[in-house]
Amino acid sequence: MEKIGRTKIIDLLKREDFGATVNVKGWVRTRRGSKQVNFIALNDGSTINNVQIVVDLANFNEDLLKLITTGACLSVNGVMVESVGSGQKVEIQAREIDVLGTCDNTYPLQKKGHSMEFLREIAHLRPRTNTFGAVFRIRHNMAIAIHKFFHDRGFFYFHTPIITASDCEGAGQMFQVTTMNLYDLKKNEAGSIVYDNDFFGKQASLTVSGQLEGELAATALGAIYTFGPTFRAENSNTPRHLAEFWMIEPEVAFNDIADNMDLAEEFIKYCVQWALDNCADDVKFLNDMFDKGLIERLLGVLKEDFVRLAYTDGIKILEEAVAKGHKFEFPVYWGVDLASEHERYLVEEHFKRPVILTDYPKEIKAFYMKQNEDGKTVRAMDVLFPKIGEIIGGSEREADYEKLLARIKELGIPMKDMWWYLDTRKFGSCPHSGFGLGFERLLLFVTGMSNIRDVIPFPRTPKNAEF
Ligand code: ATP
Ligand code: MN
Repeated sequence: MEKIGRTKIIDLLKREDFGATVNVKGWVRTRRGSKQVNFIALNDGSTINNVQIVVDLANFNEDLLKLITTGACLSVNGVMVESVGSGQKVEIQAREIDVLGTCDNTYPLQKKGHSMEFLREIAHLRPRTNTFGAVFRIRHNMAIAIHKFFHDRGFFYFHTPIITASDCEGAGQMFQVTTMNLYDLKKNEAGSIVYDNDFFGKQASLTVSGQLEGELAATALGAIYTFGPTFRAENSNTPRHLAEFWMIEPEVAFNDIADNMDLAEEFIKYCVQWALDNCADDVKFLNDMFDKGLIERLLGVLKEDFVRLAYTDGIKILEEAVAKGHKFEFPVYWGVDLASEHERYLVEEHFKRPVILTDYPKEIKAFYMKQNEDGKTVRAMDVLFPKIGEIIGGSEREADYEKLLARIKELGIPMKDMWWYLDTRKFGSCPHSGFGLGFERLLLFVTGMSNIRDVIPFPRTPKNAEF
């Protein structure tokens, strides 16, 4: 076969130099046609759109044609011609076809319309579907948007550790990391495991959040963000929780809670705008196929200011709803940790736009949050979104050494884990704030997918770590 430089389909579909000889490589999505001429829809992953290959059967050997089946990988040389029937401006009149990889009829993606559940069982192949191609291209684009947003504003990308020896990051159940022989664990007289001979000489885990280390950096570099994997061994089998997920955590010196809310709102709107500007074809596909309200919801978020509301006022609204006969599965009272149904009621039914809920009871929030004068609440903020519930959790941090120390002691957090963190408050402490955005929760919003397992390539959830 003649060697011609490859053109990606995304670039080819924009070209107008009809008559040019081109090469494309990709996978067969469908093949149809008559005894004289066949039409192959070829996709190479660069775009959701396929290019149509027109094959004049008389020009090709029968044995070769037999190998052109759904899923097979082809290299095609041909002439670019203007198309009338393919839905695209361009199609290719095939001159030479090389079958790079055959695909027999055991290929599970022969037909369209598989359920999301089935596709999760073949997560190694699902990127080849239109839906998952779209989702993973959007996922890439959102990662780029995030780096660009922070970089353009002078934030530094700071790498916090994935293995940590502090078990008090305060954000959830941790996975242990050990090289010890689990069949023969050394224990002391009290029956506790002795970690002296373990790899790190102490108990270690996978991080649940980079925040504490992020604070160390923010109080030196001024403004930083982390963007990495985090791990939570919470046994919550919900459409919004993963055991391994990616989190973005900006942390900014001299920002108070109001600055923090401004940053969160500007940041999310930037990401949503980026998806509309840079992933238009994929977003439109997902809108048309899965979620007819998607684009409208994305535009809605851009248009409106987020509501800013104290937790106490949020509870009042929910209590009024209950009084008027609205049924929640979980009870509503001051002090309760809001369930997703409560968050979504505020966002979807009451305000009909995103809500930033602030000043939560200190008992349901982490030890490092700045305490309010009332002695009962802390300067926490959760950003609540339609369809998702909590998408961001953050706070102004307690900058006062004595107050922070008192809270740590009150909660019985061991000092051996906290001394280095307390040093930020001992040496040149400053007001500072930050938040954590769950990357996959953002993707749920932007793609309109309804299960978090479908916006990460290889989901890890209770009893599932396949692929
Ligand atoms: P939730 O109440 O929804 O379980 P959280 O309050 O435990 O969340 P934070 O500790 O505040 O979560 O984490 C910051 C952000 O990380 C959350 O706002 C959410 O977007 C995301 N997040 C938290 N836990 C998970 C998880 N298990 N899977 C995916 N994303 C998560
Ligand atoms: Mn939270």
